[in-house]
Amino acid sequence: MTDPEPEEPDGLCARLPAAARARERRMRRRLAQLVALESPSGDALRLDLLAGELTRGLAAAGAQVERIPGAHGDHLVARLDGRTDGGHLLVLAHHDTVWPAGSTAELPYREHRDGTATGAGVFDMKGSLVVLETALALLGELGACCARPVVALVLSDEEVGSPDGGRLVARHLPGAAAALGLEPPHPDGGLKTARRGSARIRLEVTGRESHAGLEAARGVSAIDELTDQLLELRGRIGARPGNAVNVGRISGGTRANVVAGRAEAELGLRFTEAAAEREALRLLATLPPHRAGARIHAEVLSRRPAWQPGSDRALMDHARALGARLGLNLTGGPAGGAGDTNWPGAAGVPTLDGLGPQGGGAHARSEHIRLDALAPRPLCWRPCSPPRRPQAEQRRPALRTATRRGGAPSGGRARTGPHGCGRTPVRCPAPGARAVTDRSPARRPVRRARDAVCGRPGAAGGGMWWAEWVVRCSLRANIADEALPRATPGGVLWHQTLPPEVP
Ligand SMILES: [Zn+2]
Repeated sequence: MTDPEPEEPDGLCARLPAAARARERRMRRRLAQLVALESPSGDALRLDLLAGELTRGLAAAGAQVERIPGAHGDHLVARLDGRTDGGHLLVLAHHDTVWPAGSTAELPYREHRDGTATGAGVFDMKGSLVVLETALALLGELGACCARPVVALVLSDEEVGSPDGGRLVARHLPGAAAALGLEPPHPDGGLKTARRGSARIRLEVTGRESHAGLEAARGVSAIDELTDQLLELRGRIGARPGNAVNVGRISGGTRANVVAGRAEAELGLRFTEAAAEREALRLLATLPPHRAGARIHAEVLSRRPAWQPGSDRALMDHARALGARLGLNLTGGPAGGAGDTNWPGAAGVPTLDGLGPQGGGAHARSEHIRLDALAPRPLCWRPCSPPRRPQAEQRRPALRTATRRGGAPSGGRARTGPHGCGRTPVRCPAPGARAVTDRSPARRPVRRARDAVCGRPGAAGGGMWWAEWVVRCSLRANIADEALPRATPGGVLWHQTLPPEVP
């Protein structure tokens, strides 16, 4: 990269770690508070109590927060203004957990001598919610505006496949420049650069009841039919490399002397490839019964498309470069599980996940986070090289700024905040920061070179360093919009139904 970095606010790079460290105690207190507010998926009352608390926290951090009523608890949409109208940064989080009400009696928030904290939901993902609040608060504290608008979704039903919250992801996906997921990272702290697709299927079989001794031949056993179908599915879907089939629940029948008239199973399917997923869903939709008189009905309860590896290399490279400046050796790799980032990833939006604090034991009693990952590890944070002011930009006046979010770009100096980010001076307090976007042809090769290395929106991880990225991205006001991939318009999401191409 030959183009110098844009100017940073005074000492920003050095001030960020210290500011984050100063918040460490507050972060731990906040985490204890959030863990104490239990939030099992489906429990609207408890989820809404936590949503209210998070609304207060995110608003205090400077975000505009909207509560969206959901089928089983409110979702949150938190927005931060950007300096330009360019594609927004989509941040994906959730506040539901797998832990039933009353779990904190057995698994309360506790900090341990080995530097970990345990508690129901501490890892997936209340620690991440603390990181989100703190990162946004740091932006305000350091007086840094984002180049792009930030839209953070906190959904109430991620742990059950986001059957309702998925519509919010779909709504905010078009036009997104990049997506960052706050799910836990890999065990070694690595980021997630792809995810297998998943589908939750209810397979229902109807047969005919009869006396199992006297008139067995008149009956059609739904249980026998279901058993045969499951064995066949295991062979036809599960045998393909990258696929997995888990029969998670099975029920049916009434008594030992009655031929079962009804049976059903709930299947969890996983796919590495989108084509394998389509093939499996098509198979499920057209399963022929083995027995005359048996009927089979397959219903997709929830589904997340496969986010295939490869398309997000530039984003990962950018994250790695930023991590290196902070002394972090960031790695990335595909994940076996699915999450809400499957949608942007599958739609071609540059995506990274696993930006929550490091830990382990998700969904298990051993759930924990490393406290040194919640707040920055002092040894891992080091001052960056002093900011250099590019000579070309010293000479050049501000050529283009943008109005507030949703407004049209303006020429000249129509700024409402001292950064030119559109915030009011109260919300955008840093003096001296400039928004400079030069789209002159002479600058384009330089801009593209920078984009290739660091222009793609970057990410978060190891607890707090993604705040650094948001800050830095805000300084790179001239990221070329045309260089960013666009979300596939429409058809990205479908819930509760088979895909259109499946008969
Ligand atoms: Zn999660």
